[in-house]
Amino acid sequence: MTSSSRPSLPLLDAMRPARPKAPRDPRPGLSGVAQSELERWVEGLGEPRYRARQLLDAVWRNRAASAGDLRTLPAALREMVEQQYRVDTLAATELQVSDGGLTEKALHRLSDGALIESVLMRYPARPGQRERHTLCISSQAGCAVGCPFCATGELGFERDLETAEILDQVREAARRLAADGKRLTNVVFMGMGEPLLNLDRVLSSVEALADPQRFGLGARHITVSTSGVVPGIRRLTALGPQFTLAVSLHAARDPLRDVLVPLNRRWPVAEVVDAAREHAAATGRRVSYEVTLISGVNDTDVDARALAELLRGDLAHVNLIPMNPVAHTPWEASPMDRIERFADVLLDAGIATTIRRNRGQEIGAACGQLAAARAGEPAAPAVARRRERIVAESAVALRGERSHADAPAGVGE
Ligand code: SAH
Ligand code: SF4
Repeated sequence: MTSSSRPSLPLLDAMRPARPKAPRDPRPGLSGVAQSELERWVEGLGEPRYRARQLLDAVWRNRAASAGDLRTLPAALREMVEQQYRVDTLAATELQVSDGGLTEKALHRLSDGALIESVLMRYPARPGQRERHTLCISSQAGCAVGCPFCATGELGFERDLETAEILDQVREAARRLAADGKRLTNVVFMGMGEPLLNLDRVLSSVEALADPQRFGLGARHITVSTSGVVPGIRRLTALGPQFTLAVSLHAARDPLRDVLVPLNRRWPVAEVVDAAREHAAATGRRVSYEVTLISGVNDTDVDARALAELLRGDLAHVNLIPMNPVAHTPWEASPMDRIERFADVLLDAGIATTIRRNRGQEIGAACGQLAAARAGEPAAPAVARRRERIVAESAVALRGERSHADAPAGVGE
């Protein structure tokens, strides 16, 4: 995808005055506040304790978006709430719909002008399968890991999201679904950011999502995806089963993975897989591995066989994702016949494997693309340098690592 084919976002111009960044609103978001804390606060105001429960019901059952939605509270208390807290931490939301209405991509502006994305995917009922509504949410604005195939990676790290900023993406999508009489059934942390680098906030968000008194989503319906932050995986293992863990592996060989997941090169693939294996053993839940397949880079038979050897006999599932086209990389998605061949090698080794069909490609559904488009076009020389660096690094990674027949055209020459 060239820079000129980036999505144009005329409606988002309305948000433009928010940049450059404003100071962050210091009031905590209500959805991130624990019941005990709210109880202390209402009691401190001389109000009965049950007011805290009424507030939480307004936030979670009625998905309140403003103080005006806190109808069960007396007007004076509503005013106090507004002074102390933010009822919604999403200052503005822009929607783009695609796939005949099945995919809704949301770009949210936060109080300081930071932009994050969430994607709602509707899966209508099919024979033998109930209707599902999955929301993909962000855990950080930007990301420090810097994967060269990812639009968020190109943006770089901006900041961690607060717990309420994570949860309000869920409440916002649930509000949209409720308008159609529908419910959210699954939440996946696969939007912008590396969840295990904002782990405390991600864990308190998961707690709120799973709590029957708040969002009430079964832990089995929550997936957290990590680029392989080993200490974070180990911390999750010690905590016990909380959600499904997905590990973005992308390559079984270290030199290639170092290029594809740059910040995590301090943990060799074997260590990442060991940590994931221990997690599966301790929690009894199989780990899913994500592999974004990039034409001629990590999709060869050599890579498929290396991955099959690495995972043989494990309680694992591999999800193959054709790379979504993103601006400023020299790479493109692997052709479908190559992806199917890659899947066959894994299936032959007895490894459960599925191919994920991308949703909402035309509106840039790989998270980070709308925010990247809004960040504006980087200077042409910077883009050219980035492309050259990606080609050079992957060439070094691939050279000598595989037979000439497997070397991708134009890379490593
Ligand atoms: N940082 C975490 C979670 C967010 S990214 C992680 O990396 O796992 C979620 C998933 O989107 C990852 O598996 C990532 O590899 C994938 N992804 C990012 N950019 C993509 C692209 N251009 N095409 C396909 N998948 C992409
Ligand atoms: Fe960060 Fe995940 Fe994108 Fe890598 S793929 S840059 S870890 S958001």
